[in-house]
Amino acid sequence: MSTTLKPSRSLRKKHRRVAETQPAPQSDRSAASVQEQIYASFSPTRLRWNNLDLTVFVWMTLMHAGCLAAPFFFNWTAFGTAMVFWWLTGSLGVCLGYHRFLSHKSLKLVAPVRFFMLLCGSLSGEGSPLFWAATHRLHHQRSDQPGDPHSPTEGALWSHLLWLFGWRSPMEKEMLLERYAPDLVRDPMMQFFEKTYGLILIGCGIGLYAVGGLPMLLWALCVRMVWTYHATWFVNSATHIWGYRTYETRDLSRNLWWVAAISWGEGWHNNHHAHPHTARAGHKWWELDPTWWVINTLRACGLAYDVDDKIPTAATAVEG
Ligand SMILES: [Zn+2]
Ligand SMILES: [Zn+2]
Repeated sequence: MSTTLKPSRSLRKKHRRVAETQPAPQSDRSAASVQEQIYASFSPTRLRWNNLDLTVFVWMTLMHAGCLAAPFFFNWTAFGTAMVFWWLTGSLGVCLGYHRFLSHKSLKLVAPVRFFMLLCGSLSGEGSPLFWAATHRLHHQRSDQPGDPHSPTEGALWSHLLWLFGWRSPMEKEMLLERYAPDLVRDPMMQFFEKTYGLILIGCGIGLYAVGGLPMLLWALCVRMVWTYHATWFVNSATHIWGYRTYETRDLSRNLWWVAAISWGEGWHNNHHAHPHTARAGHKWWELDPTWWVINTLRACGLAYDVDDKIPTAATAVEG
């Protein structure tokens, strides 16, 4: 079954209005105020030309420009390296490390593997581990409701990438981390990545250029990164718009095969929203989930443990 979502203007306006003015309960005014400020920091009204996050804007422009130049500097070594980096950063880094391990605690990893996965995640350029996990947890809590950082009810383009470009103050970022990742924020490994995230990305670029010159930089950094960006962004946009629903959830999440194919299994997004704690995104035999294969292999080698591998038997959603 395929469904197209076309939110009305009035619905979008209503969501914005509620996100900005939702009243706080009398019993916990200050906590509610923090919550309101976090929601408001992801409101589409934040996206204005005089309020752009210039670091994000310049970085994304450079990476996409690099993609356009890449075909003129093609060689097979650079292409092959890009493919390996795509797997390392997209599957191991984002899907396994940032998403299933860090955000949902679907499995535990021995310390060196944990560090490696978060390093791979950092090399994806999708933000620090802490920021990624906190934003994603907010998405699960508020999916397709006011406060969701990237719901297509605000427009498909907003959910795909525009939400990234609004500038947010350090205080707002801190509130987000304290509220949505209190279990992680004081972890020394997380703090290490908070401090070194930018350096890791720059070091990766310098290293690739030193090894293979401009072709390597354009393919293994720009093309690989932009491809992985859009694969992840399609999980936020397309799998909340098109596809089939196995579970009745309170959000618009759907399972979409082509997003699963380009995002190492994350496109089975309705399954994931219904049962976010399980480490398996594919719940039917034909819902292929290459990231799960890696988790299973790590467990067999003793490098992953306490893996939640339960596939739900009933069509009921747990959510979270
Ligand atoms: Zn979602
Ligand atoms: Zn999730």
